[in-house]
Amino acid sequence: MNVNDSIAAIVSAQQRYFRQNITREVDFRLQQLTKLRQVLIARELEIVEALRKDLNKSEQEAYTTEIGMVYKELSFIIKNLKRWAKPKRVRTALTHIGSKSMVYTEPYGNVLIIAPWNYPWQLAISPLIGALAAGNTAIVKPSELTPCVSKLITAIIEETFEPQYVASVEGGPEVSESLLNQRMDYIFFTGSTKVGRIVMETASKQLTPVTLELGGKSPCIVHEDAPLALAASRIAFGKYTNAGQTCVAPDYILVHSKVKESFIAHLKTAITSFYGENPLINPDYGRIVSEKHFERLTGFLNNGTLRHGGNTSRERLLIEPTVLDDITWEMPVMEEEIFGPLCPILTYENIHEAVQAINARPKPLALYLFTENEDVQDYVLSSVSFGGGCVNDTLMHLATPYLPFGGVGESGMGSYHGEHSFHTFSHRKSVLKQTNRFDFKFRYPSKNGLAILK
Ligand code: NAD
Repeated sequence: MNVNDSIAAIVSAQQRYFRQNITREVDFRLQQLTKLRQVLIARELEIVEALRKDLNKSEQEAYTTEIGMVYKELSFIIKNLKRWAKPKRVRTALTHIGSKSMVYTEPYGNVLIIAPWNYPWQLAISPLIGALAAGNTAIVKPSELTPCVSKLITAIIEETFEPQYVASVEGGPEVSESLLNQRMDYIFFTGSTKVGRIVMETASKQLTPVTLELGGKSPCIVHEDAPLALAASRIAFGKYTNAGQTCVAPDYILVHSKVKESFIAHLKTAITSFYGENPLINPDYGRIVSEKHFERLTGFLNNGTLRHGGNTSRERLLIEPTVLDDITWEMPVMEEEIFGPLCPILTYENIHEAVQAINARPKPLALYLFTENEDVQDYVLSSVSFGGGCVNDTLMHLATPYLPFGGVGESGMGSYHGEHSFHTFSHRKSVLKQTNRFDFKFRYPSKNGLAILK
């Protein structure tokens, strides 16, 4: 059987299984999620090891940004699922007196989840948890660029679930295309804006609904009143975690010109305290995913003035946490999402100028603003459209199940995490239950119907 045929066989088996209504039972979903949690706990060390092999993630980083987040999502969903899944009664309009209005959440059916390589574990498993909680069957397509994690995802899925319920299909763009060409009921894609367009175009042929979790250049504004040492630590954390290969990493810094020098000094201190004097020999510093990405990133190193870092190891695909000063919007490093440990610094004189510059570009996935001035906070939050973000922090908005996580415009559409995941993967079916005890005649065509209504 070739790849296309075996994919078609998995999809039709999942369609048949879904039609048996087994996955609609909330108890069944809870059993499956609980089983998944048991398997994940039992295989936790293998997950850590696979992340180390593919991206040199340290155990601490693997736990905080991947494994721990998945556990949290699982526990939160298991705890609340029964309540979310209950049909909800809503108010009924006066014109509908006697009837009852209900909203039922129902699974879409067969869900396809396509995952990227940068958080290869969390970004495949977290949407899967949402899809199963909502009662769907699912196919996961992990990234071909992180082969150890992808193989482990397949092994864990095979150990936990029947293939007609959940399957993992490994492979690159061709396999992804073949999956996209199947009749799916929902597509959840995480990856680049470029591939997001392809996904949406293909999905449109069958009018399949999509969530697109995409990327882009996320700005980070450091205002003149910001506590600079604290801001620098939180920015260095957001920028250099996973060697900058984070969709919501602060892509570039817009710092008020008055505090630029002091901010850079604090940023250097933070980098050294996190990764040491020589990050290239730090065993816990993340590596760049592939040679191609390494080449692209090192091509930016001559942009502006190098203020920190800049050393690389081609052999081990490492690039030091780097700070580039005197950057202008026209430089190559400002033309695309960096997705690596390079931090370009631009300055502004007044906050309006910074907002204008951001608004002249596609809507970012994240925005970070460092200031204690509430007028400046209100102004920026009400003037810039972005997926989500933080005031006086970076990344942390995505680590809570209470906030919906997603992009807007070119950074994506739809959102997930916690209850938002449950709703993303559920169709809300509105039903009006009418009474038969009486009937209003005036709604029917009649000579004097309009006169009664008026
Ligand atoms: P990518 O778009 O290259 O690949 C993502 C997935 O799509 C992979 O599984 C890949 O096999 C598949 N794919 C690649 N080409 C395809 C094609 N032509 N047709 C169909 N499928 C195809 O992205 P990536 O390099 O893995 O990840 C990096 C990008 O993802 C960055 O832009 C980053 O910002 C974004 N990202 C976004 C989020 C988010 O939550 N919004 C999270 C992580 C990464």
